[in-house]
Amino acid sequence: MMYLKSLKLEHFRNYRECGVSFCPGINVVYGDNAQGKTNLLEAIFYLSNAKSFRTHSDRELIQFGQEDAGIATELFLGDREYNISVRLSSAARRRLCVNGIPRRTAAEFAGTFRTVLFSPEDLYLVKEGAAVRRKFMDFFLCQIRPRYARALAEYTRLYEHKIRILKDCGEKPSLLSTLEDFNLRLAQAGAVLIHYRALFSSLLSQTAAGIHSDFSGGTEVLSIRYKTVKTVPDPAAQPKEILPFLLEHQKGLYRAEIETRSCLSGPHKDDLEIDINGKPAKSFASQGQTRTAALSMKLAERELHCGDGGEYPVLLLDDVLSELDPRRQEFVLNRITGGQVFVTCCEDERLGRLLDGAVYHVETGTVK
Ligand code: ATP
Ligand code: MG
Repeated sequence: MMYLKSLKLEHFRNYRECGVSFCPGINVVYGDNAQGKTNLLEAIFYLSNAKSFRTHSDRELIQFGQEDAGIATELFLGDREYNISVRLSSAARRRLCVNGIPRRTAAEFAGTFRTVLFSPEDLYLVKEGAAVRRKFMDFFLCQIRPRYARALAEYTRLYEHKIRILKDCGEKPSLLSTLEDFNLRLAQAGAVLIHYRALFSSLLSQTAAGIHSDFSGGTEVLSIRYKTVKTVPDPAAQPKEILPFLLEHQKGLYRAEIETRSCLSGPHKDDLEIDINGKPAKSFASQGQTRTAALSMKLAERELHCGDGGEYPVLLLDDVLSELDPRRQEFVLNRITGGQVFVTCCEDERLGRLLDGAVYHVETGTVK
């Protein structure tokens, strides 16, 4: 089992000094608005991902008027204990440590401790543009497949370079001669992305559909389909089998790309098509259905982590329960057993008693 035994915060957001121990099951964190509930989840998320889910600027995490901030935890993983710590400083580079040993890169640091977060912004997964859903796939796959993370970094770098070539080739036609090489390397990295995204989507789709059906008492059918470059007949095939189809698609759009000066071919346009009862959720889902579908996808992500690593990741649920009716609340609470969970809400201890977990009250940056 993977769980946080304790957390120490120092000058992190509105926490001056705070040390708290947690239970391996469900931890309910309640309090009024603006007291520090989301900040607490943000600190836990940072230990797992070496970044916040709310900001790209570490500076914002340091308490107003302070120069440094610290987050530290004792983490249990199987029967081993880890000490993970982060030191943020406005003047120097941040320090990431596992068991006292500095980790140079976020990738080296983030491998140890896995979390799945559900926050109100995740409703965008269903309602917003494709970029949000690509990010969802990328985030999961980068955590569990280093080969995917490398291919994505390579693809992004090449893509930006290709865009620059397409923008500048009007003035400098000689640039066009480099395009062929870029296209080949983009297709090679792109084929890796498509292969893993297809495998992920099919597992996600099955798992999320099961959860969603239980959630809605069997009245709703959720289906998620992976949409990628049209010419690829089997996206789950090995990357080298996908490659010729990507090259063919690029060739067909060669002129159009130069004319529009934009990159029209490749998995940077991928999407997940989400339907509820056969209708696109993006256009037709009600608020409750949107929430249910997004939550089903997130709980499915948690199952997939467990399937891959053998342990449930720590689940961080920010502000989800308050917006669900009692039947759906109860469903969520039944569904999240098995790993450690942090749930924030504005309600009182009622939830804690219901859950038979530990209850914490957050008030102006202190936890009781
Ligand atoms: P809600 O129920 O409204 O979601 P919350 O308990 O989740 O509330 P948080 O998002 O955790 O509230 O924020 C609590 C407070 O932390 C806010 O009032 C915010 O102004 C404050 N805060 C944010 N960043 C910093 C910082 N760097 N230094 C000090 N305080 C900060
Ligand atoms: Mg909050």
